[in-house]
Parts: sequence; C-alpha cells; structure tokens
Amino acid sequence: MDLPKLAIAALGGTVSMQACNAGEGVIPTVSGETLLASVPELTTLARVTVETLGLLPSASLDFGFLLSALSWANAQIMQGAAGIVITQGTDTLEETATFFDYLWDHDEPLVLTGAMRSANQAGADGPANLLDACRVALAENSRQRGVQVVMNGQIHSANAVRKTDSLALQAFSSPIVGPAGLLMENTVNYPHLPVQRRVLPLPQLTTQKIAFLEASLGADTLLLENILELGYDGLVIAGFGAGHVSGEWAAAIETIARKIPVIVATRTGSGSTAQSTYGFIGSEMDLIRKGASMAGFLCPRKTRILLWLLIGCQQQDELARFLVQN
Ligand code: ASP
Repeated sequence: MDLPKLAIAALGGTVSMQACNAGEGVIPTVSGETLLASVPELTTLARVTVETLGLLPSASLDFGFLLSALSWANAQIMQGAAGIVITQGTDTLEETATFFDYLWDHDEPLVLTGAMRSANQAGADGPANLLDACRVALAENSRQRGVQVVMNGQIHSANAVRKTDSLALQAFSSPIVGPAGLLMENTVNYPHLPVQRRVLPLPQLTTQKIAFLEASLGADTLLLENILELGYDGLVIAGFGAGHVSGEWAAAIETIARKIPVIVATRTGSGSTAQSTYGFIGSEMDLIRKGASMAGFLCPRKTRILLWLLIGCQQQDELARFLVQN
C-alpha cells in the first residue's frame, strides 16, 4: 500500500536547540533532517519530506517569515501532502498557530509542535512531540480542523491554545474548552466533531502596525496619547477583568477609537470580556460606547494577530464576525 505524503518544516526553537560547548546556553542548530532522524518509526507511517526553513528562536519570527512558511505549506498540499507538520519554538506558538489558522484554507491538517526540553537534554520531549504531531497530521479525523498544536500528548485548537507555563513539560493548555483531542496508544482521539471555521484571504498589506498595551494599576497614559502620532493602524489592549481600563485610559481610548480600530481583551488568561454588565467609566459598556470592540474569548495576543490580518486584507468591517462573545 502507498504511504501518504507528509511534509515537515523546521523553524527553530528549543526542539532544534543544543549547546555547542559545555556550559554554554542552548541555541538553535539542529536541522529538520536531524529531527526527523530522531523518529525512525515515522518511515513506516508516511513518505516524509523535510525542510529547514529557519533556525530561529520563536521570539524572532515575524509575519513576513510566517507568510513564507505558509506559502511553503500551501505548495506541499498542492503537491499531494496529506498533512503538514511545522516545528518551532514554544514561546510564540500560540500566536503563530492563530496566524496560520486564519489563513489555512485546506481540509488537510496543519500541525505545530515544539519542545520544552532541548535536543540533548535528558528526557527530551521533541522526538515524542514530533511523532505525535505527525500522527495527528496523518489522521483522517484531523481533517477540517484547521491548525492544531500538539504538545505532551494533547491536541489543542489554534484559537484556544495558550502557553501557560514558562518551563514545565506540561506548558500548554486551552482555558475553558480544554484540549481538542488526545493521543492515546498511538491513536488520535477527538471527543467532538470539527466546527465551522472562518478563513481570511492572504493579506495584501503587510506594513500595518498594531500597538499592544496591557492595563495595569495606576498606569499613566503617555504611550496611549502617542499611539496615533506614532502611526499605529490599530490598538489592542489587554484590559483588567472582563475588559476594563481606568477612567484616564478610557478617555484616551475614545480619541484613538475615532481614528483606528481599538479592541479590548481580558488580561486574566481565561474567560471572555463582558458586553453589558458593567457601566462605570472604563467598563466594557463605556468602552463600547466610546468606539472600542470587545475581544470576547480571544486572548489579547491572538486578538492582535486577528487585527493585523483583518487590516492586511482590508476586512476590518468583519471584525465582529471573528470575535466570539459569551
Ligand atoms: N523556550 C522556547 C521554546 O520552547 C524558545 C523559543 O520559543 O524559541 O522553544
């Protein structure tokens, strides 16, 4: 029987990191080919092609690089790949997953994975995560689920997943909804059917700048007051609680929202912003009156990705359709 085709790309991150000399910190040097050699079992599951598209810490990935990785992945699907796996650093995995997911217009799975332990560390999780990610990418029941993140035996959907621990092996979770699926005894299991997804066209504009600020106790308004003058095209705020800011911030936001889109998310790490509960100055009802939108369940970082993409394909008016409210 012909094995399915699977395409893997390495971008860098801890999964590709090792120390060059004893006592030095780990840096990304391990190629996709070497990663592949750590999972010999894979050759019994698929015909695999592998490319090293980058060797970067994930903090240094940017939208231009991600668009070129996406175009590589699209080309692999056109050439008959049944699924795609991308390995990268975990620090920005929740953002890249969202970025790819809004643009992934295929039934075939695109699976992202990485590692919390570097390649030569005892108990390195990279090979196990890579093999799991490949199993997910090849599974028939993974189709039509868009982009997913596979880490530590769990499958997370792109719009829900967050890195919720800085160094632990179990570093990823999907607050409120939980993982979309699990790997058990080498099988890929999903408790629910895939849901309808919304996909955006590729951005025509890529130079737009989205400012990102977190509300904090007693914060001044200096940065906010300069957002327009600095030429930002949109603003995302990680607000207090259900999407709140101080009275001073609310006044500044009103001015900004007359010119550019402003979205307020919750900085809590879980749950949704409110729509119609609080009425004080700086509350969600006040901010909506002042022209801001509330991010709903979308976390602040993912909200910034969404706004960048919407402005990039000139679909800002569609914002409300992309924000799931409670
Ligand atoms: N600590 C990160 C990782 O897990 C480094 C990075 O994101 O590149 O890969």
